[in-house]
Amino acid sequence: MNSVKLAEMDWMSYRDRVKDGECTILLPVGAIEQHGPHMSLNPDVLIPEHIACRVAERSGNMLVAPPIAYGYKSQVKSGGGNFFPGTTCVSGRSLEEYAYDVILAYVAHGNREFIVVNGHFENSMFLVEAADRAVEHARLSGIEIKVVLLSYWDFISATTIEKVFPEGFSGWAVEHGGVLETSIMLKIHPELVDMSKAVDIPPAEFPPYDVFPPDPAWVPSSGTLSSPAKATAEKGKWILDECIAGICRTFG
Ligand SMILES: [Zn+2]
Repeated sequence: MNSVKLAEMDWMSYRDRVKDGECTILLPVGAIEQHGPHMSLNPDVLIPEHIACRVAERSGNMLVAPPIAYGYKSQVKSGGGNFFPGTTCVSGRSLEEYAYDVILAYVAHGNREFIVVNGHFENSMFLVEAADRAVEHARLSGIEIKVVLLSYWDFISATTIEKVFPEGFSGWAVEHGGVLETSIMLKIHPELVDMSKAVDIPPAEFPPYDVFPPDPAWVPSSGTLSSPAKATAEKGKWILDECIAGICRTFG
């Protein structure tokens, strides 16, 4: 048994690993959200978990917590919206409290350093609030902790973007279910991708505002916001290599 996944350890080995507070806990946070007809509902969970595991293996001094699979409500202009069957989201309040509780539970075991690896854009500010409150709560109890919050796509350089999107990059917002996520999934979980079902559409265009209730007519019927047709496992490897190396270099 030599896993970087802490849930696969026995409790005594885990206790001995973390009790001095020197081990960093990587906490992947994702979402269950439709990603088009060609892909499973869970890329936002599997991608940050995969990245976290590779980072932990390289570092030797990190453990990966079980991911928080449910994320904040899918938004029309970044995730297609919260009205597709299968898209299963929680409120910002629930996500914030859940992440806060999980971090503080790990603090109680002796952990002092955390890296929250986000895989779903909409989660961001609720994770900020969870991290901020957890740090403050611990501080008031006389414990100093540090929580790094990152979204993996922020580690992708302009050079890699040019390589992955030689015809031009339409922007992160419309990458939902597009080349980026599909390429990574082809690399790490090809069994969860069926390119014969990929829908080739131009990047979605949205008005410069949001409206509630959301209008499903704004969203391409496939649920993807751009075309995944040019996705390849090789592109997925370029993206992952850069994200993993960048996170290791910064925090390893
Ligand atoms: Zn996604």
